[in-house]
Amino acid sequence: MQIIEIKNIIKSQREYFKTGKTLSIESRIEALRSLKNTIINNEVLISDALYKDFKRSQFESYATEIGSIIEEIDHAINSLSSWARPKRVSTPLVLFYSRSYIVNDPYGVVLIMGAWNYPFSLSLIPLIGAIAAGNCAIVKPSETSPNSSKAITRIIKQSFAKEHVLAIEGGVDVATKLLSQRFDYIFFTGGVNIGKIVAKAAAKYLTPVTLELGGKSPCIVNDTADMQTVSKRIVWGKFINAGQTCIAPDYILVKKELKESLIKNLEDTIEKFYGDDPKKSHDYCRIINKRHLERLEGLLTGQEHVIGGKIDKKNLYISPTIIDNCSWKNKAMKEEIFGPILPIITYDHIDEAIEEVNKREKPLAIYLFTDNRELEERITKTTSSGGLCINATILHTSNYDLPFGGVGNSGIGNYHGKASFDTFSHKKSVMKKSFWPELDVSYPPYGNKLSILKMIWGNNFLK
Ligand code: NAD
Repeated sequence: MQIIEIKNIIKSQREYFKTGKTLSIESRIEALRSLKNTIINNEVLISDALYKDFKRSQFESYATEIGSIIEEIDHAINSLSSWARPKRVSTPLVLFYSRSYIVNDPYGVVLIMGAWNYPFSLSLIPLIGAIAAGNCAIVKPSETSPNSSKAITRIIKQSFAKEHVLAIEGGVDVATKLLSQRFDYIFFTGGVNIGKIVAKAAAKYLTPVTLELGGKSPCIVNDTADMQTVSKRIVWGKFINAGQTCIAPDYILVKKELKESLIKNLEDTIEKFYGDDPKKSHDYCRIINKRHLERLEGLLTGQEHVIGGKIDKKNLYISPTIIDNCSWKNKAMKEEIFGPILPIITYDHIDEAIEEVNKREKPLAIYLFTDNRELEERITKTTSSGGLCINATILHTSNYDLPFGGVGNSGIGNYHGKASFDTFSHKKSVMKKSFWPELDVSYPPYGNKLSILKMIWGNNFLK
């Protein structure tokens, strides 16, 4: 796509935004309904695209994308009137005879750049927030999952006028051209390095950004009576989408005396979930492309203590794999794995585990398996991560009342549910003062008015 076309699209969206057609609650709800209907009518198209891109099962496609998108739309439709209502706040006595409230203003024309691993959710869930807040949007799905990118473009075309929402497909070249333009908000999902490119491009126009990034999310197994359940929850969260999940447990930190039992249970669970040859399982995904497969293969090359580790390059397959006896120096611990490889590191005392986690970049998620309330509290207070999920993996992101996002290197900002609406709304402070009474106490000459000011400037608020 030529830059001139991109400029024209942005121009037409700006003009559409100025008409005010995106502003009424009714029109936003209508747009959300239109998206929902298109998704329902295209369930097969979506599942087929995900099968072609990942060999993803229909169940997983529904659970991780179609179902959660529909749920987000329904929640937005049902809650929009209350989210969008101006919020009255109290006014201090010193400003008496005034009213104060916060108005949610849409930003205008926003850019949403999605990542490839959950292509529909990562493009469309932010879009739900953008529409709900009354914006126009350009969506750039990831080129890395090409079938899904095409399907997203088709869904958007069927749901909206292009002046309102348009999908633009393309690779780095198109992404770079888009980022050279002025938007009113940029919402990006992807890796840390590209996130920095986006932040730099946004800085040129001081465009506000949300960066949904990645990192290494640790899974701490400290003390628990039920290793079978722990293993099920870890294996599910790690190997769903063949580990290509931003919040997948990246590695396990386990108390030394629990390691043997954990590994045995993990192996049993892998077999129970995917059979003795996961390649034959209909429920086990493939790696997105050769480049990513070779990157993951590189992490396994020369490794000792590998359990699994079967690779079929032609079919983009890597079996669920555990690296036992891993150390912090291991190459698998130097980058986000983003694939079906699970290193295991032991510790003697929980202090050690906390210290090691805190030495590293802040992760998108921390998982903790424990029966100990005090430890829950300690990890909650002494570690920093996008989210914390206790005795489960991934599931904290399925509650739309919990904002989802990173901190530090794992991202800036958050979304899901109301957080999406808030992300795409500028909180405009509005104060209205009555013309009467007009007291001169705050105007010069100040003379001895300071004592009066001090008297009324307390903690008294007019409600
Ligand atoms: P990707 O390659 O699909 O890139 C994401 C987007 O950036 C795409 O739209 C792509 O076209 C664009 N892009 C790629 N290179 C670019 C460049 N040089 N300049 C400008 N734009 C460019 O995704 P990825 O980066 O491989 O995604 C994987 C990463 O994303 C992982 O680190 C993962 O943890 C993270 N992720 C985070 C979340 C989250 O919600 N926090 C979700 C999914 C993935």
